[in-house]
Amino acid sequence: MNERADMHVHSTFSDGKGRIEDNIAAAEALGLTALGCVDHVRVSTDWVPEYVAAVARLRGETAVQLRCGIEAKLLDTSGALDLPDGIEGVDAIYAADHQVPLPEGPTHPREVRERIEGGDLTAEAVIDAILTSTARALDRPERVVIAHFASILPKLGLSEDDLPEDGLDRLAAEAARTGQEIEISERWNCPSAATLRPFLRHGVPILFSTDSHRSETIGRYEHCLAVRRELQA
Ligand SMILES: [Zn+2]
Ligand SMILES: [Zn+2]
Repeated sequence: MNERADMHVHSTFSDGKGRIEDNIAAAEALGLTALGCVDHVRVSTDWVPEYVAAVARLRGETAVQLRCGIEAKLLDTSGALDLPDGIEGVDAIYAADHQVPLPEGPTHPREVRERIEGGDLTAEAVIDAILTSTARALDRPERVVIAHFASILPKLGLSEDDLPEDGLDRLAAEAARTGQEIEISERWNCPSAATLRPFLRHGVPILFSTDSHRSETIGRYEHCLAVRRELQA
């Protein structure tokens, strides 16, 4: 939980407004020691080699430690991710709940909310699917970061209070076993200290992230600092 790092920042390779160079300059101006370059990919993305090369080249021009990350959505309860082929050179995959990873595949949160309200799906089953998908996504050779975990819950009419303690403990244990990481997201104001406590207990590294889409917000924290205070109290 290091506020001198921002481990999730987007660039013009996907939907960020700043170039990687601009993001590095912002990180340098704030005195950050590490920057997670992260851009959105999907199965059809073809620019990953170019992106890896760009980050590698910029490492030679800054003292800020650069991570070359890509962000992909969780697809289903197998833990599959929406990734292209050919991601050699990528340092970390950020696994994100952009849709609800149900057994049958990624489902729009609005549809899931309607199905919960209509009694076709239970909140417990949806939360179990999210926990199962996330846990299974961790078991792969690459470094995986659990990105803005639980950010989808409010869109479903749910909250982190609905996450079962035993389910969170199993996910945290799996993150520890597989050597993976979780972030606190300044952009999404999640996860909460209560959600992160099992991860802390299992020794899972917890990263500070802004999920910035413009250089001005890089490395500026309120939620992350508040969560850290609560965890350390
Ligand atoms: Zn995301
Ligand atoms: Zn992101």
